[in-house]
Amino acid sequence: MPKSKDSPLSAAASGGAAGSNTVRRLRLRISAAAESTLRSGHPWLFADSIRDQNRPGEVGELAVIYDRKDRFLAMGLFDPGSPIRVRILHAGKPRNVDRAFWGELLEQALIKRDGLFDSQTTGFRWINGESDGWPGLVLDRYGGTLVLKIYTPAWLAWLPQILEVLSERLQPDRIVLRLSRNSIPIAINRFANSDGQVVSGKPIVETVTFLETGLFFEAEVLHGQKTGFFLDQRENRRKIETMSASRSVLNAFSFSGGFSLYAARGGARSVTDLDISAHALAAAERNFTLNKTNRIINACMRKKVQADAFEWLAANRSPMFDMVILDPPSLAKRETERERAVSAYRRLALLGLKLLRPQGVLLACSCSAHVSEQEFFETVRAAARTTARRYTELARTTHAPDHPATIPEAKYLKAMYLTVP
Ligand code: SAH
Repeated sequence: MPKSKDSPLSAAASGGAAGSNTVRRLRLRISAAAESTLRSGHPWLFADSIRDQNRPGEVGELAVIYDRKDRFLAMGLFDPGSPIRVRILHAGKPRNVDRAFWGELLEQALIKRDGLFDSQTTGFRWINGESDGWPGLVLDRYGGTLVLKIYTPAWLAWLPQILEVLSERLQPDRIVLRLSRNSIPIAINRFANSDGQVVSGKPIVETVTFLETGLFFEAEVLHGQKTGFFLDQRENRRKIETMSASRSVLNAFSFSGGFSLYAARGGARSVTDLDISAHALAAAERNFTLNKTNRIINACMRKKVQADAFEWLAANRSPMFDMVILDPPSLAKRETERERAVSAYRRLALLGLKLLRPQGVLLACSCSAHVSEQEFFETVRAAARTTARRYTELARTTHAPDHPATIPEAKYLKAMYLTVP
């Protein structure tokens, strides 16, 4: 954070929107449509909705938004490099943004998770961005390690205060900072932060171990995908465990073998990890080893296939599994990729169904925000209809309670369970 006493940033941080008049606050006036969007509680103000701005503004500065009658409407983090120009922190009455403010915001997120997890689950999400009032910021826990991931460099200006609040309240062994690609240049050049930096507490080499429903997993917190593990699929993994007894299971797009371990503990005869990445398959193997002391897991035969799942599934079409799990990476990173993604989901579901023996179960997942729940479910059903087998829908799931999605833009995860005769 810039040190100069009267810099807009430091004054905003200490005086807040309501208080200090020693600096010219960054003031915005916005379109009528944006005004009603913010009033309804949406946390994004887009650049093209700004009608008037008193000065250019710095990254991370607090922007104060006034309504048409010049009354305080909301305030948030200013990001001049993003079309989402302000991420709203607070609306209603003016107030200071200080340690007490962050403390309250954290408490609200913690309360939402109260009672969700016992001591057998030490990996979960404490803060889920927009849906927890922390727009563009995620906080995951892996045992004693907290991983703070930011999706806008605006948060960097507030990092010292936020780290203090997190350390005091959650007493972690360490906090790791992860940066979205767009945050990296500003992080390095202006704030001396970097991706994978241990910003508080003891250093680590690469991975940390944690518990999920009593299973041991490693998370690659410094450089892995997301914050090091796919915590968002925990509830689907739990469900798979309850359906796995005596089955032979294909876990396509297996990553570090999360679904496979649950299936193994659920009594699966065999699990086959299928992933294009040798790195992911090696992590899956280590996770299996971590749980070998569990007799049921130890009894399950583990196989691995390193291949492109689309190609492998196309080349192996005979019924040879009792359960097929399809959890590909996001197939539509932008709206223009939506149609291709939908046809890829259809193809995957169809190929997955072809591999199922009688009474087999298919789990088809999508984490593409650009493909809606309705569209995805309809796509899977349409694929199932094209097979001669009359399928039964067993369940549909969406976001887990520690990954709430309170605005449409935050919704990405959906899954459908089908069985065939
Ligand atoms: N199901 C996992 C998460 C899957 S992440 C879990 O519960 O943890 C997506 C995985 O798909 C990654 O491991 C990535 O390496 C793999 N992947 C990406 N493209 C692939 C492809 N074409 N074929 C096979 N695997 C692929």
